[in-house]
Amino acid sequence: DRPTSVSVPACFGYALRLFQSRLRDAGVVVERDWPGEEAWVRADLVRLEQVLVNLIGNALQAMARTETPRLWLSIEPHGEEVSIRVIDNGPGIAEAHLGRIFEPFFTTKSPGSGLGLGLSISARIIDDLGGRLAADNAPGGGARFTITLPRDPGPE
Ligand code: ADP
Ligand code: MG
Repeated sequence: DRPTSVSVPACFGYALRLFQSRLRDAGVVVERDWPGEEAWVRADLVRLEQVLVNLIGNALQAMARTETPRLWLSIEPHGEEVSIRVIDNGPGIAEAHLGRIFEPFFTTKSPGSGLGLGLSISARIIDDLGGRLAADNAPGGGARFTITLPRDPGPE
């Protein structure tokens, strides 16, 4: 798991492909918002994909009772960094839980449907890459996760 230049759009593509049938079955509208240009980060592809899978999986679970589930995925290069966002329109994260969701074993899910490890492992992976993982609620009310990573010039 040596870091290499990883294309963020490609990585999102791999993560999305894993969820393709589940997203379709759940009737989730997926909106992608990313630039035509490439956005590269220095990462391990499999680990970054694992983080995106954790975030998309959480979003899917959160939207289980949402009438018109929507998932927004965005990639925004700015200066020396790239912001990668996963936003859903589920119930969002309670204010009291926002400070605890990155703790190992913190979960609000019933036993069997969540171990409470996905976010702590994800935050650790992003930390190790020199970035950060943050959570808040979107203006519309759903949960919003933002990964910020140093930008990479790309393979040469
Ligand atoms: P798990 O999914 O096993 O519960 P995670 O570490 O992935 O563990 O998430 C921890 C907790 O963070 C969840 O139990 C839930 O309370 C909250 N959470 C994570 N993602 C979302 C989301 N998209 N919407 C609402 N709450 C969320
Ligand atoms: Mg999870």
